[in-house]
Amino acid sequence: MRKRTHQNPLENYRKDISRCVKCGACSAVCPSFRQDRRESQSPRGRIALIEAVLDGRLAVSDLYQDRLATCAGCMACEGQCASGVPVTSIILAAKEQAVQESGAGIVQSVLAGALRHEAVMRSLSWLAPVALHFSKGSVAGGGAGQGSRKIRNADYGMRNGSGQQVAARKKVIFYPGCAIRHFQQDIQQSTAAVLEHLGYHVVIPDDLKCCGRPFLSLGDRDGARNLAEQNTRVLAALDAEAVVTACASCGMTFKRDYPELLSRSGIRPAAVMDIHEFLADKLAASDLSTPLHGRITWHDPCHLGRGQGLAKTARSVVRRIPGVMLVEMDRPDQCCGFGGLMRAVHPALSRGIGRSKARDIIATGAATVLTGCPGCRMQIADSLRLEGAEVAVMHTVQVIEAALRSAECGVQSAEDREIEKVRN
Ligand code: SF4
Ligand code: SF4
Repeated sequence: MRKRTHQNPLENYRKDISRCVKCGACSAVCPSFRQDRRESQSPRGRIALIEAVLDGRLAVSDLYQDRLATCAGCMACEGQCASGVPVTSIILAAKEQAVQESGAGIVQSVLAGALRHEAVMRSLSWLAPVALHFSKGSVAGGGAGQGSRKIRNADYGMRNGSGQQVAARKKVIFYPGCAIRHFQQDIQQSTAAVLEHLGYHVVIPDDLKCCGRPFLSLGDRDGARNLAEQNTRVLAALDAEAVVTACASCGMTFKRDYPELLSRSGIRPAAVMDIHEFLADKLAASDLSTPLHGRITWHDPCHLGRGQGLAKTARSVVRRIPGVMLVEMDRPDQCCGFGGLMRAVHPALSRGIGRSKARDIIATGAATVLTGCPGCRMQIADSLRLEGAEVAVMHTVQVIEAALRSAECGVQSAEDREIEKVRN
């Protein structure tokens, strides 16, 4: 057993844990419990296990750590809890305490090692189908390894104007995050194109790191803190009008976790906006033409809806696209099964949750599902493929880019072509 060198992070949650009355109201909405009906995979069961460890009645074991790893971090449980138990924060603290006590598992250590090194992540963009248990090509219009080198570190504003013109524009930093930078650069290209259309000079700094979310999920808070400090220093030095991300999990981490992670260093967190939030008051319907015909449906990423309170904002942006007929699926805010590293460490459980989401999508009869997170997009695309459904899965910015392009000059982007396929 590893000697404990830190204060037990669970001690901060002793009172919160004692507020759990074990009513089980949270279990009904927990994706991992709904899948397997095991009490140890429910929020109530995990809190009971954590309480037993805190009280010394249970030792940290591989099985205990495994039960913690079946939490997708979706936060659905917290919305059901009348006692206000912060279940997801408690589970993250329990993971941290377990790693302090027993170390991380092999899979977790390999993942953390990869996330720390840019070169490894670049090679993972080719190996992603294996590493993340998804099917190569399942993400329409831009899967793994799509030119990771090519547009990394781009300074998009320089493409469309002279130096003086570019200097006159307001600068926006795009924070891609690991999933977009290494696996889905089509989202980065679309975001940059939309922001440029709105007159911004888009910069993607070279030295941005992972936001730290996976490190929190792995129980490595010091690792997450280190990344938070590095990222915040890079962003502060650039003096931009705004920092924008198109990844719901990165956005939530900047907003909810960075204030605490940076509190010791005294560094002020950067104000980061999700792309839906940024576009909400900037997109004029008159600039857009109709890129989509027929039904579309929307999946709420947990970290956009519950994590940032942007479910309504995202829908308002989607509804502004002409011709879009938004049909709500049953439980649009139910987790897709990607989160909390579940896809990597519990692929079978993740797949089961994903297929349930896919069936809800198929039941709408929609030809396209939109979402606001690269992780959800990858998971949903693969789940639909497993269900044998041909439904396009796109990030909102891809459709907005297509709508702007077709309004301007009818130029066909990769997204236009994807949409054309859906139409036919
Ligand atoms: S976490 Fe809240 S909802 Fe869940 S069992 Fe405890 S008190 Fe009930
Ligand atoms: S965060 Fe989601 S997966 Fe984790 S315990 Fe709560 S409902 Fe279940």
